[in-house]
Amino acid sequence: MSTLSLAPDRIAALDAAHLWHPYGAFPASTQPLVVDSAHGTRLVLADGRELVDGMSSWWSAVHGYRHPVLDAAVADQVAKMSHVMFGGLTHAPAARLAELLVGITPAGLDKVFLADSGSVSVEVAIKIALQYQRAVGRPERHRLMTWRGGYHGDTFAPMSVCDPEGGMHSLWTDVLARQVFAPAPPRQFDQGYVSEFEKILVEHAGELAAVIVEPVVQGAGGMRFHDAGYLRELRRMCDEHGLLLIFDEIATGFGRTGELFAADHAAVSPDLMCVGKALTGGYLTLAAVLCTSVVAEAISAGEGGGVMHGPTFMGNPLACAVAVAAVELLLSRDWRGEVAALTEGLVAGLAPARDLPGVSDVRVLGGIGVVEMAEPVDMRAATAAAVEAGVWLRPFRNLVYAMPPYVCTPDDVSRICTAMVAVARS
Ligand code: PLP
Repeated sequence: MSTLSLAPDRIAALDAAHLWHPYGAFPASTQPLVVDSAHGTRLVLADGRELVDGMSSWWSAVHGYRHPVLDAAVADQVAKMSHVMFGGLTHAPAARLAELLVGITPAGLDKVFLADSGSVSVEVAIKIALQYQRAVGRPERHRLMTWRGGYHGDTFAPMSVCDPEGGMHSLWTDVLARQVFAPAPPRQFDQGYVSEFEKILVEHAGELAAVIVEPVVQGAGGMRFHDAGYLRELRRMCDEHGLLLIFDEIATGFGRTGELFAADHAAVSPDLMCVGKALTGGYLTLAAVLCTSVVAEAISAGEGGGVMHGPTFMGNPLACAVAVAAVELLLSRDWRGEVAALTEGLVAGLAPARDLPGVSDVRVLGGIGVVEMAEPVDMRAATAAAVEAGVWLRPFRNLVYAMPPYVCTPDDVSRICTAMVAVARS
């Protein structure tokens, strides 16, 4: 018998004794649920309960679990080669993935750096931006400008551009690189805001390498939406002042906001763009940084000659193969129709939350539904209430939100919304 055939209480005991969980401590404030398997839009718990996954495994499993095409892509690649170093070697999964990504991302992005996770891709994008400025003779330009309220990952360079007041990384404020922050953009386009942003940018332009933002949706920093017109203004300002523009599309990429990429809402091409999460349909860990030839060529001709970054698992063939399958699957489906159906279901299903006491806002964009509470939510009680309603949600701070798989049925979406309303009511 496999050593993985563990009784649920043994799993829970081993977990409690040894395992760190995201943003966790010992002892854990809440015991994690033991999940045994997953299929379609469902998580199957060890005690037999099935939950509709309103989170798509942190926004990645857009095609649902155990998709036959994605299962086959992994199995076929395992039969050939699970891993090989990427230094000095290449392979079909990486090459085809690069071709696909260059074909679907905004015009001009045609060099691809494969990274192991979203956070690492942001690290790499920042490294490339700083190195570009050195290469073109502006080494003093090593700071970044961003919006407050953002989230770009948990390693040190991304932490430095996360919301400095959101609490998540505030323990480290004194050791993080000092970046330049502007207020978060308002939801509607506001020329006054643009002027305020530009004033800060101009003041610091001589020391700035790049502007980095999450386009259209600021995700884990607060699930805030903003007008895509700001992206055009950022493009203009970066061009005028010699800054690179970095879009972090790790959460928004691959259709989540109703366009393939959030940049497409404004038809803006950044100089660098990070993608991850839904890239592999949630199967394996992989992210990518895309950049323009101008950036890549300047770095290659400059001091150092290349990007000094090359992790052991860079370009992992299994991850690349399933990413190719996931992106091809997305493009072959009516993803636009699926996301539009999610929007419709979320708008209708969350409408009852609008009138509840304690609810300060209800908003929906693409496949993202948010109920914002006036006060922080008790995460433990909220998760329990959602599980009771047969749904997996993970509210944070004052936000009860869902980013469901695109393959949800109308009934799945309705169950997710019912659970969100129940949490908001409790
Ligand atoms: N950037 C954004 C916009 C994200 O939403 C996330 C994760 O939520 C990250 C970066 C970090 O990605 P990862 O968790 O894969 O390191």
